[in-house]
Amino acid sequence: MEKPAIYGGIPIREKKLYYGRQYIDEADIEAVTTVLRSDWLTCGPQIAALEDKLCHMTGAKYAISCANGTAALHIACLAAGVEIGDEVITSPLTFAASANCALYCGATPIFADIDMGTLAIDPEAVRAAITTKTKAVIAVDYAGQSAAMDELVSICQQHGLILISDAAHSIGTKYKGKAVGSIADMTTFSFHPVKSVTCGEGGAVLTNDEDYYRRLRLFREHGITRKAELFEKPSTESWYYEQIVLGYNYRLTDIQAVLLSSQLDKLEMFSNRRKEIITRYREAFRAISGITMQEEIAESETTSHLFVIRIDSEALRIGRDEFIRAMAVENIICNLHYIPVYHHPYYQNLGYQYGLCPNVERVFTELVTLPLHYGMSDEDTEDVIHAVEKIVRYHS
Ligand SMILES: *Cc1c(COP(=O)(O)O)cnc(C)c1O
Repeated sequence: MEKPAIYGGIPIREKKLYYGRQYIDEADIEAVTTVLRSDWLTCGPQIAALEDKLCHMTGAKYAISCANGTAALHIACLAAGVEIGDEVITSPLTFAASANCALYCGATPIFADIDMGTLAIDPEAVRAAITTKTKAVIAVDYAGQSAAMDELVSICQQHGLILISDAAHSIGTKYKGKAVGSIADMTTFSFHPVKSVTCGEGGAVLTNDEDYYRRLRLFREHGITRKAELFEKPSTESWYYEQIVLGYNYRLTDIQAVLLSSQLDKLEMFSNRRKEIITRYREAFRAISGITMQEEIAESETTSHLFVIRIDSEALRIGRDEFIRAMAVENIICNLHYIPVYHHPYYQNLGYQYGLCPNVERVFTELVTLPLHYGMSDEDTEDVIHAVEKIVRYHS
C-alpha cells in the first residue's frame, strides 16, 4: 500500500496544484494593451460593449457592470428597496457577501437551511422563513448548479418578494434551457480570479426590468444622473447633473471591461473543460463509499465553479481537516466552501446561534473543495484522484 506523504511517503506531485486559478491568454493581454493606448481608461466604450455582450449571452434585457460581485449584491439590494427593518432570506452555505449586502442596507439576513443533496437553499426552508418583514430572497447557485428556480420564483411571486440570484458561481449555467441572468428579478455575477471568467475584480447585475435598471445605474454612480427628465431643478446646460439618491462609486474600468469581454469569448471553452474534469472526478469518486458528491439536478445544465465532495469521516476513518492536511502534503491544495456565514464572529456578535441550520452544520464538517480550473491537465486531474484514493485507502 502507498503511504501518504503526510506519514512519510512520497508526494503525488512536486508542484502545488491549487483549487482555482485564472486562465489569461495572449488575446486577453492584447485587449488590455489596446485600451491602455486608447483615450478611455474608465467610463468609455468598453463598458457598453461588455454590458451588451452580457445581455446577449444571458438573454437579459439590461446589464450593469460594477466593481465586484459584492458591489453587485449591494446595488441589487438597494434597487430592490431593501432597508432598515426588512428581512432578507439567504443561504448559510455561501460567501459572506451574500448576507453582508442585506446588512449594508440596514436589513437583517435570515438564513434558510440547505438541501442536503444539492447543497443549495431549500425552497421549503425559504417558505418557512418568510415573515411580514421579508423583502427579498437571495438564492445562491452553489458551486455553479442552478438553485431550484421554479420553486423560488413561485414562492417569491406568491409572497410579493424580490428574488435576487447570487450567480457568482454560475455564469454560463442554464436552468431549463434558460441562461442564468434572465430568470430572477436581478442576477449578480462576480469576476474575481477564482470564478469561471475574470477581470481581476469585477461584477455585474442583470435584469429584465427597466425600473431596476435605472436604479442600479444610479446606485453604481454616486446617485448622480445626467438625464434631464430625472432632474428636480430643470436645466439644459451641458455641464449640469444632479445627485438624487445616495449612491456609490462602484464602476468597472474600461481596462477590466475589455479583459472580461475577451474572457467571455472563452467561456464555452472554459465550461467544456470544467465539465470534462468533473466527469472524470465523478466517475472515480462514485467508486469510493464514504465520499458523497453534490446531487445533480436535471433542470441545470451546469458550468461548474467548484467541485466539492463530502467526507464521511466514520466510513472513511479520517476527519475532514486531516484529509485536507494530507492532501496538502501531496501538494494538492484543497479548500472549503463555505464556513456557514453565521459562524463568523461578526455574525455571532449580532446574536446568530451555532446550530441555526442543522443541514449546513452537518455538511460543513464534511466538505472539501478539490481543484477545478481550466488550466488543469489530465495529469493534474489524475493526480487529484490518485491522492484522494491513496489517503482514503490508507485509512480503510
Ligand atoms: C465570490 C462571491 C461573491 C463576491 O464576489 P466578489 O467579486 O469577490 O466581491 C459573492 N457571492 C458568492 C457566492 C461568491 O462566491
